[in-house]
Amino acid sequence: VKRSKKPVKRASQILLVNISQLLTLRCGEGDSSARRLAQLKDLDIIESAAVLCVGGKIVSVGTTKDALRDPWLKKNRKKIIQIDCAGKVVLPGFVDSHTHPVFVNPRLIDFEKRIEGASYEEIAAAGGGIRSSVDGVRQAGKSALTAKVSNVLHDMAALGTTTVEAKSGYGLTVESELKSLEAIRLAASRWPGTVVPTLLGAHVVPKEFQGRSQKYVEIVCKEMIPAVARRKLARFVDVFCDKGAFSAVETEQIFEAAARHGLGVRAHMGQLSQTRLAPFLRFNPASFDHMDHVHDDDVAELAKRNTVATLVPGANYFLGLKEYPAARKLIDAGVPVALATDYNPGTSPTISMPMAMSLACTQMKMSPAEAIAAATINGAWALGLADRKGSIEAGKDADLAIFAVGDYREIAYWFGANRCAMTVMNGVISGTP
Ligand SMILES: [Zn+2]
Repeated sequence: VKRSKKPVKRASQILLVNISQLLTLRCGEGDSSARRLAQLKDLDIIESAAVLCVGGKIVSVGTTKDALRDPWLKKNRKKIIQIDCAGKVVLPGFVDSHTHPVFVNPRLIDFEKRIEGASYEEIAAAGGGIRSSVDGVRQAGKSALTAKVSNVLHDMAALGTTTVEAKSGYGLTVESELKSLEAIRLAASRWPGTVVPTLLGAHVVPKEFQGRSQKYVEIVCKEMIPAVARRKLARFVDVFCDKGAFSAVETEQIFEAAARHGLGVRAHMGQLSQTRLAPFLRFNPASFDHMDHVHDDDVAELAKRNTVATLVPGANYFLGLKEYPAARKLIDAGVPVALATDYNPGTSPTISMPMAMSLACTQMKMSPAEAIAAATINGAWALGLADRKGSIEAGKDADLAIFAVGDYREIAYWFGANRCAMTVMNGVISGTP
């Protein structure tokens, strides 16, 4: 499908001025882990602000008045693209640290059947469920999958997202997981933003291995992970650790294989049932995601560690659940919390970080400021990219989201509408202010 794309302007020097609120999220002295407790709401806002980006990096941040008086800027005025943000809010581009973009079709049977109250088994019997996504990916060519991922990356940028973690996981054979990760790599090479690829070969046990999950885990550990590491197709290995997916013992085996091959680990944890976290902590997981069900002792343990709890309220919303992850409890205990979309065809078909933030505020009682930090700097920590992403300060990548609102709290307030006017991704402008 051909689609028109907004013009992309490559500029080596960009000056944004007249920003009503610049949310810098500047890191404090000696910040060595993700934001927690009161740090999570410290946005470090500059009013009437300006930002200068050169060669894809942020070089200075301050007030518009100071920027316009700067002798170097005066001298180089003609070489600089100046963007008048006329009262808009500028924040770090969102870091969506949990997405599943490699699939072919929406899961409309699931959607309709679930509304009618059908069970998981009834949905599968009607031709829905995860298997339908697996069949689609196994049959698809690499270029078709690449086009799907490319389109969604483009759409994400239009909503303010500039860094995306992208998982495979609907192929479930060595060949189709590699094909999925190659599609992610190709799409990433055509997008000005930043993509972090993750192997999710252990998403579910494929039907041909039903009742023989250990055999499938062996393939993940001995074939998939080595092949992916050899081709440098992923930075992380993810496991869906839950009832109906992979056990704690199997998750440990997969983490061990990932560690042996130099890959980081993260896991879908505690979505449907509680799993104790102790066996996994020696692997220093970058993130545990979902976290609807967590033991109190594990909450206390996570508060002492750098593993981020990534909350994905879009899944709870779309499944029509009454309960959401206990964000307040996690934050108040000192656990670093991030927000992500969990973009996927079955349980969270949204690419909107502002929507995830709105749900975080209304359903999980996070403050708008906490939602911003969780969607930016803590997402960057969850991907091991906090040295480059997630805040607006000299030396970091020029990743900005420009929102047509006068106050940052409006970003989570106007749910369902897109107020993002423009993004800058590694110094590349997309959209018009
Ligand atoms: Zn997920």
